[in-house]
Amino acid sequence: MFTKLTGRSAIVTGASKGIGRGIALGLAAQGAQVTLAARGADALEIAHAAIAAKAPAAKLRCAPCDVADWDQVRQMVDDAAKVQGGLSILCANAGIYPQTTMEDMDPAEWDNVMAVNLRSSFLAVKAAIPHFRKAGGGRVILTSSITGPITGYRGWTHYGASKAAQLGFMRSAAMELAKDNVTINAVLPGNILTEGFAGNGPEYLAAMAASVPLGRLGTVDDIANAVLFLASDEAGYITAQQIVVDGGQVVPESLDAMA
Ligand code: NAP
Repeated sequence: MFTKLTGRSAIVTGASKGIGRGIALGLAAQGAQVTLAARGADALEIAHAAIAAKAPAAKLRCAPCDVADWDQVRQMVDDAAKVQGGLSILCANAGIYPQTTMEDMDPAEWDNVMAVNLRSSFLAVKAAIPHFRKAGGGRVILTSSITGPITGYRGWTHYGASKAAQLGFMRSAAMELAKDNVTINAVLPGNILTEGFAGNGPEYLAAMAASVPLGRLGTVDDIANAVLFLASDEAGYITAQQIVVDGGQVVPESLDAMA
């Protein structure tokens, strides 16, 4: 149904685990060359091996990088474009979600969440602009969240603010990128079972699954499928938009609504 991404050059941040690794696998299975970026080199190598085992023909490379550091991001993006012969898809996915109430939160934690979740989107897109221009176009897909843009949760003031702000960034960035035939869109995951998410504990996971009309937590493949669509040629007239992938979680007015 969709044109394959054969040979396209892609970067996925936060690709050593969870949603990012799922997105990287999806892109690799579609024939894209993929740079996997995250801080931990060992975890990146493990993800590389896992993806290669499922997509043996894929061209993959690891790029240890802190997405909140401009020099590292610029180097990572330039290197990816050089090795992969350009750049056409950027998935700015890396993010953290420590849960701390405002009263207990050190202001440094607020700043760190903003840097890793929001500043990182700006840095990655800024670094990619010259490469997209050279390629004659490109696709940016941000991983936002339902938390912040749509919902709220105790302990996630910083996280929710960062994820809502990603969408504000996206809309104005779309205006700047359009003249270079670059689209920028966001996926808003609901509760997706990843290593990081599992850290919230079994009670939280069970409560969340029970609040989803489709009756289950999401998988990384659910998110990757939306990202693949937004990266496709067929999504070329869509920009500054968001796709909620949450099993309907944000819709019920009360638990009775799902009865
Ligand atoms: P995860 O399993 O904890 O994985 C996070 C990834 O980001 C890892 O690869 C991690 O590697 C990387 N990362 C963290 N800090 C980084 C930094 N400073 N520089 C570079 N890479 C960094 O998380 P996830 O659940 O897959 O979440 C991925 C994205 O989806 C996040 O943006 C999150 O907000 C969003 N999201 C997740 C859910 C969910 O239910 N899971 C729901 C809504 C939105 P290193 O630690 O080695 O750097």
